[in-house]
Amino acid sequence: MVDQTQTSYFAKTMESGSERWNFQGNKKLSASSISVRGVYNMLMERINNNEHKKPLVRLCRVDPTDNPIFRTTPEASDAVATAVHSYNFNSYPPTVGLPEAKRAIANYLSSDLPYQLTPENVFLTAGGAQAIDIILPVLACPGANILLPRPGYPQYDSRATYCFLEVRYFDLLPQRGWEVDLDSIEALADDNTVAMVLINPSNPCGNVFTYQHLKRVAKIARKLGILVISDEVYAHVTFGRNPFVPMGVFSSIVPVISIGSLSKRWFVPGWRIGWIATCDPRGIFQKTGVVTNIINYLESTSDSPTFIQAAIPEILDKTKDDFLSKNINMLREAANTFYDLCKEIPCLTCPHKPEGAMAVMVEINFSQIKDIIDDMDFCAKLAEEESVIILPGVTVGLKNWLRISFAVSTSDLVDGLSRIKAFCLRYAKMP
Ligand SMILES: *Cc1c(COP(=O)(O)O)cnc(C)c1O
Repeated sequence: MVDQTQTSYFAKTMESGSERWNFQGNKKLSASSISVRGVYNMLMERINNNEHKKPLVRLCRVDPTDNPIFRTTPEASDAVATAVHSYNFNSYPPTVGLPEAKRAIANYLSSDLPYQLTPENVFLTAGGAQAIDIILPVLACPGANILLPRPGYPQYDSRATYCFLEVRYFDLLPQRGWEVDLDSIEALADDNTVAMVLINPSNPCGNVFTYQHLKRVAKIARKLGILVISDEVYAHVTFGRNPFVPMGVFSSIVPVISIGSLSKRWFVPGWRIGWIATCDPRGIFQKTGVVTNIINYLESTSDSPTFIQAAIPEILDKTKDDFLSKNINMLREAANTFYDLCKEIPCLTCPHKPEGAMAVMVEINFSQIKDIIDDMDFCAKLAEEESVIILPGVTVGLKNWLRISFAVSTSDLVDGLSRIKAFCLRYAKMP
């Protein structure tokens, strides 16, 4: 029972008057937040505005499990089921992850490196996302700044803002196959720059960096005294000319934090398992305290599920090559279909055929289009009129471009692109 004195005390304390509070929301974050989810919800609303809407086609999210053709391998599901049924993994996991999982990942990564990683170099995280959430605050000393690619992956921007790490952007150059604008890196960096982020294979550009280019990046980072965070959640998801080269190959030049995950290559983003791997044969992370900070951070945060960790050795060991190569072939075909159909769409240009990952950037040529003011307007009208969802480039840092995910079924891809074509024809300026 709530007694009367309590109720009136509650009412009295509810009167706010001219009180002063020391806290406030992070203004920087609310000012800069064009979130992917927010834009997605807005586009869905536009579709629902249309009484005569067509069936929905989503070329927006990079979650291939939306489509049943992208299904994980039975070896992976079996490994998880075995772990669950053993009842051995219902406990909390050790802070930095189960040793056998760490060892398996160290071996898996080392097969592409010129030296052997040890289990101590691997920290298990709840997906690549938590790896980002951990590594940025670990590096965020007062006044520090970090170099991020533009376009990029929005989680880096929001996480950096949350931990007061200043963000500076370097451009990826569409006319050069989305290579890093190397000249700009040196101009951007100063003594407070701690790291640069590279996403390879690239989300959202769909390119794969060459060995030579990565080596140049490593040398510049070394010169500047910064580390490289290499987001390799799409490792080995390549289907063009350039093979995947892990940044860790250059870790004798510069220390590298590699971020990885099962989510994309195994089509299991809901399993929440990823890792941070320190590729640092010279031991610079030990000396600078980065390793200690990662461990301290992990001790105070949540973990990925123990039974998923326990399944890792078997997943990595038993996944058959034909599962992986079949997926690559599907994505290659999707990329080809996308590129061929995109060429026939007026007012849009894809500067670089995708050769890795699952998304691609397309430019809107505003000189050829009427009654559309920007990329957001393009996507909103497209959603309303054609029930096709694609992401405006502004959500990944590149205004007036579009980000399209091609990891969908052929029928959705063909249908979606033909509706985008009809839309562009309607809005094209007459020659
Ligand atoms: C999907 C993705 C992540 C997050 O990985 P999860 O394992 O799904 O948490 C991180 N970086 C990039 C570039 C991604 O595309």
